[in-house]
Amino acid sequence: MKLYNLKDHQQQVSFGQAVRQGLGRQQGLFFPAQLPQLGDIDTLLAMDFVSRSSKILSAFIGDELSSETVTQMVDSAFQFPAPLRQVKSNVYALELFHGPTLAFKDFGGRFMAQSLAAVTDSDGKITILTATSGDTGAAVAHAFYGMDNIQVVILYPKGKISPLQEKLFCTLGKNITTVAVNGTFDDCQALVKQAFDDAELRDDIGLNSANSINISRLMAQICYYFEAVSQLSKAEREQLVISVPSGNFGNLTAGLLAKSLGLPVKRFIAATNVNDTVPRYLHTGEWTPKTTVATISNAMDVSQPNNWPRIEELCQLKGWGLDELGYGAVDDKQTAITLKQMYADGYLCEPHGAIAYNVLEQQLAENETGLFLCTAHPAKFKDVVDTILATDIELPAPLEKHNALPLLSLDADNNFATIKSILYSVQPTL
Ligand SMILES: *Cc1c(COP(=O)(O)O)cnc(C)c1O
Repeated sequence: MKLYNLKDHQQQVSFGQAVRQGLGRQQGLFFPAQLPQLGDIDTLLAMDFVSRSSKILSAFIGDELSSETVTQMVDSAFQFPAPLRQVKSNVYALELFHGPTLAFKDFGGRFMAQSLAAVTDSDGKITILTATSGDTGAAVAHAFYGMDNIQVVILYPKGKISPLQEKLFCTLGKNITTVAVNGTFDDCQALVKQAFDDAELRDDIGLNSANSINISRLMAQICYYFEAVSQLSKAEREQLVISVPSGNFGNLTAGLLAKSLGLPVKRFIAATNVNDTVPRYLHTGEWTPKTTVATISNAMDVSQPNNWPRIEELCQLKGWGLDELGYGAVDDKQTAITLKQMYADGYLCEPHGAIAYNVLEQQLAENETGLFLCTAHPAKFKDVVDTILATDIELPAPLEKHNALPLLSLDADNNFATIKSILYSVQPTL
């Protein structure tokens, strides 16, 4: 598999290099030089989740890893289902929260851990540095927990993720270090980028990112779009609209990549909260990020979405107009109203999924089938959901267990020197 750097097309790397480096020169994102041919889509859709996903990922990766290796990686990474739930006669929820940390980021995080292990020499030193708006951190921490030779450092905006989210990944210890940064998610993301720009640091500690900027995560996410469509009838597949609750836009990138591989999707919708850089851009053609605002859908509190250049590149390659994308932004008040409506109609959701549902409902035509992504388990946002719905949601076992443990996070100012010294301090002494 060859990938090129979107900021410097001369830089071409293999799958292994892209997975190890995360970002290219000038902080450029890697993009596949070739989109694979998958053959007959109906045949592919008839396969089971692991076999089909192995086939898709193998087609991408090519001869760098044997298909047996890829199948093993997928088998270890995807040990939980991605079921559809019917919410209305023509609307389905794709539940992506049945993994160990109860959010869709388990798919990408676990496949990335497998990928990194597969493309790294056993004596290579690796430090994963990642910024999280809540769920990536948990998925990455759990995917790498206890792995030899890998240190994981996770930055998150202090006080801006839900207490349960925090408990899920800031209580692990061992090779997992969590840092509560005095700032926003965008600040955390900027600190990660700064670290990658520091060549000496990068080499000293074998720096790697596990953000959705890592191509292996996006590739894994392509697979559940196929899994979703496989559960629909032939008629429903003809007029399918998929609404994606978006923050950093990795999920939507993966969906569009799935479409580019032949998955029948009529239209995608980019649904955001009031951090609406992309909806405003699609509306006016002007890219004008504002200061990030805290919302009840905090995993989408992102105003400078990292993956957007990949979406532009893909649309350009495929000749798709950006005007073919649906979009919409939903504020907290409307999110709460939507959550209540959904609950009254018999579906318990959480704010991120509710935003995708809200925009889908507004834009779905009668003859179309709608699908919206449920990116997290409602219990992960228990405080908010219980308050809005007057419920007392039961905590699933993984949350219950971590909720009882003490927080181990370090505090840090939004200051690169501090983060750098933490990165050095977690290295095992030689
Ligand atoms: C990360 C996350 C999102 C946003 O996904 P992106 O790929 O960053 O657009 C949405 N919902 C939840 C629950 C998340 O954790």
